[in-house]
Amino acid sequence: MSELSIKEKDRLYIANTYNRFPVEIVRGKGSLLYDDTGKEYIDMGAGIAVSTFGAADPEWIEAVTSQAGKFQHTSNLYYSSPCVLLAEELIKRTGMKKVFFSNSGAEANECAIKTARRYSELKYGTDAKRYKIITMDKGFHGRTLATLAATGQEAFHQSFLPVTDGFVYAKTDDLDDVVRLVDEGGCCAIMIETICGEGGVLPLSPEFIRGVAELAEKRDLLLIIDEVQTGNGRTGKLYSYMNFDIKPDIVSTAKGLAGGLPLGATLLGEKVGDVLTAGTHGSTFGGNPICCAAAMSVLSRITDDLLAEVKAKGEYIKTVLTASEDVVSVTGMGLMIGIEFKRPTPEVVAECRERGLLVLTAKNKVRLLPALNIPWGLLERAVEILKEAGQE
Ligand SMILES: *Cc1c(COP(=O)(O)O)cnc(C)c1O
Repeated sequence: MSELSIKEKDRLYIANTYNRFPVEIVRGKGSLLYDDTGKEYIDMGAGIAVSTFGAADPEWIEAVTSQAGKFQHTSNLYYSSPCVLLAEELIKRTGMKKVFFSNSGAEANECAIKTARRYSELKYGTDAKRYKIITMDKGFHGRTLATLAATGQEAFHQSFLPVTDGFVYAKTDDLDDVVRLVDEGGCCAIMIETICGEGGVLPLSPEFIRGVAELAEKRDLLLIIDEVQTGNGRTGKLYSYMNFDIKPDIVSTAKGLAGGLPLGATLLGEKVGDVLTAGTHGSTFGGNPICCAAAMSVLSRITDDLLAEVKAKGEYIKTVLTASEDVVSVTGMGLMIGIEFKRPTPEVVAECRERGLLVLTAKNKVRLLPALNIPWGLLERAVEILKEAGQE
């Protein structure tokens, strides 16, 4: 019997939680990826907004290997510089007060949820039962039981009940509905994505975002912004909330932060900077030195010039595709774009792949999350292929 292929072994040995595209990636360079047959693809997904500067980026490799050659892990029992320098950089650039490091978006959100509950309990007491968190019914916050509960889309809860108690869902982008839930009482926080990513690249309106921020301030509810997908330059600002002139109490991020290594960060503002104390939270891998060195390198390259490029590239994609008669709508900001074609999304995605272009989906849309430094030439080719693949 001949040796099984990687695709066959994958189906045999790996839990069936992923519907994989029929492509085996063997290497990459920037925004180009190559499969096991040598076929070249333009990568418009960057590993779901993770590979901020593409595949095998030389500066990123240098940051990672240079730290790996010093020490790869110390535990959080000792002082070490990579996580401290990264925290300092994040704080300088956001005005937040403290950072808790973890390994993923779900964990960054878990920390946000724990912090919000503890803030409220320390201030108002256990008897106040002030622990509910309001989230959006089209939001997505992760796969652990608490972040699944925070995820308002009921479909994700099915067959995992009971999920963690203490979350209530407002109609997405509906301020009156948020006010209704606040008036019911027992809430400690409101948690939103500025653009619901998994929910279909749905941007919340600036009026709603500012309205929620004002309401939170007035009622002493913590404003938590989930920047797991929208963060780290994706929307043309370092964090997407910076587009709206608001000041969140807690910001969670992960995906693109370390450019391809697992790192989550929960940024804590003035009100909650000292809520977590020794023993109240922790993570063995959190703040891993190699991941933090990678993130330092990523942040050092998210400059005003790069952010202006991200905006310009996003505008370019929007302008070209909005003009196409095969396109129903284009949503998103910067290099986080959702496109609804008249042609069914799975057909568009498959045809793109045939033509050497890898794109993502979100609900009924094609989703683009390319590397922030994707060269203009590749971007123009990608948009051209997408336009052609979108034709009915
Ligand atoms: C991806 C995502 C998460 C979950 O991140 P993981 O690293 O997969 O745990 C949470 N929130 C948002 C907005 C995301 O896009």
